[in-house]
Amino acid sequence: MQDHRGSAAVSEPEVQRVVSEQQTIHIAGEWRPAISGATREVLDPVDATVLAVVAEGAAADTDAAVAAARAAFDGGKWPRTPVAERAALLRRTADLLDRDRERIGLLESRDAGKTLEEGRVDVDCVAAAFRYFADLAAGGSAGRVVDAGSPEVHSVVVHEPVGVCALITPWNYPLLQASWKIAPALAAGNTFVVKPSEITPLTTVALIELLVEAGLPAGVANLVTGAGDPVGARLADHPGVDLVSFTGGLTSGTKVMRAAADSVKKVALELGGKNPNVVFADACATEEDFDTAVDQALNAAFIHSGQVCSAGSRLIVEEPLRERFVAELARRADLIRLGRGTDPGVECGPLVSAAQLARTEEYVASALAEGAVLRAGGLRPEGPGYFYRPTVLDGCHRGMRVVREEVFGPVLTVETFRTEDEAVALANDTEYGLAGGVWTADPGRARRVAGRLRHGTVWINDFHPYLPQAEWGGFGKSGIGRELGPAGLAEYQEAKHVYQNLAPRPVRWFAG
Ligand code: NAD
Repeated sequence: MQDHRGSAAVSEPEVQRVVSEQQTIHIAGEWRPAISGATREVLDPVDATVLAVVAEGAAADTDAAVAAARAAFDGGKWPRTPVAERAALLRRTADLLDRDRERIGLLESRDAGKTLEEGRVDVDCVAAAFRYFADLAAGGSAGRVVDAGSPEVHSVVVHEPVGVCALITPWNYPLLQASWKIAPALAAGNTFVVKPSEITPLTTVALIELLVEAGLPAGVANLVTGAGDPVGARLADHPGVDLVSFTGGLTSGTKVMRAAADSVKKVALELGGKNPNVVFADACATEEDFDTAVDQALNAAFIHSGQVCSAGSRLIVEEPLRERFVAELARRADLIRLGRGTDPGVECGPLVSAAQLARTEEYVASALAEGAVLRAGGLRPEGPGYFYRPTVLDGCHRGMRVVREEVFGPVLTVETFRTEDEAVALANDTEYGLAGGVWTADPGRARRVAGRLRHGTVWINDFHPYLPQAEWGGFGKSGIGRELGPAGLAEYQEAKHVYQNLAPRPVRWFAG
């Protein structure tokens, strides 16, 4: 953090607490406290101590931020800045992220409760997203000439920025999710107001600082820290906003969509997932292959304590393999080392909040009451913080809430199948459709199953990788639209058809 808000030393000097003025709202190039003077404590999920104090914005702050973004779009230079210059700013931001990798990675680790290495990787991925959208925008065509069927007409389709974008992000990958929106929004020439999760706002503040340092004109990037309601809700129904891009849960996502309806905003939603990981017995023919499939299933379910929208939280395993697979998975789940993400040897941090911990406990209790068999975890370890042991629930079926609904915690359910058709039917039997994996040694089966899965990303013999150049998003209730890839830029553009008649004459439709 830089010094516009004041700071004090803490036990880890790289993470400075925001203590004095709580000026974490950024509007028209200035850092400010909330108009009301309200603040919010951001807790360290490892021990529930106060990590930072930030401004608690409300509707008035949001209105001021939208007004600044509106003025910068309607009258400012940014939308008309040559795309090469916009791309250069994005690349400078990526370079600054590289420079500050340790600092921001640590901040993310502390704020979101992830391991330091995960925090560092997130920063790398954010820099990659900035570079990808810089290249994509700069390398794109200035327009597409279309054949109007007449030599006397010049007809071209151009892409223009949408306008003022409201960008609302969740707590699990705060910086990464912000970058998937901010980078394409800027590359396309938009202005924006970003609202990070009130639980993990710190790295978004840091990212805005870097954009300012990279030379972004005042008013283009605005930030309001505060609660979903009023800040996010006000952004979603604000008449001065042209597009709202939301990543978060289904409940808030549907509220955003309703709120955006009256002003007919463009809406992009990246919502939850209940993601199947389908393992055929033939994927485990050798000990090495068995070890790989188990290891990846463990990673799919428990990385970042399962607080991943694409977590492989439903293991769907071929019946003859079940007992051996689940036994090994449970054995390894019991070995996962929980702790503070910056401590050596720690593999998993805590859940992000007391609410998330309570939610996880409630889902596990309901699963056990419905007949699930506990094979690992199912408890919180002694001590402070929001830790929960990685949990494997065997004997699950689609009648159980824990199989249908997103837990967003370290809980893996196990279902079984006997035929390929049954595996596909189970994997598709979800209202979501974000991501899924299939493990098989049979390439034909791999392609067949991948083709039949109704999910936005399908991994074959892998789980979790994504590429900035490949679209990310969901079928069904996992959302609307796509982030990343060419579609992730198109989300922030309006297509305009410019039809030029080179030899105008009267139409003479009307005789008089
Ligand atoms: P959430 O829906 O509680 O909050 C997300 C954001 O929306 C926060 O900034 C919150 O303050 C804001 N918000 C809350 N109520 C709002 C309202 N009425 N109007 C406008 N904004 C409002 O979600 P969360 O708990 O922060 O994140 C977890 C969820 O995010 C999970 O469901 C997860 O699957 C999803 N997620 C999806 C993706 C994806 O790519 N599909 C990625 C990450 C997380």
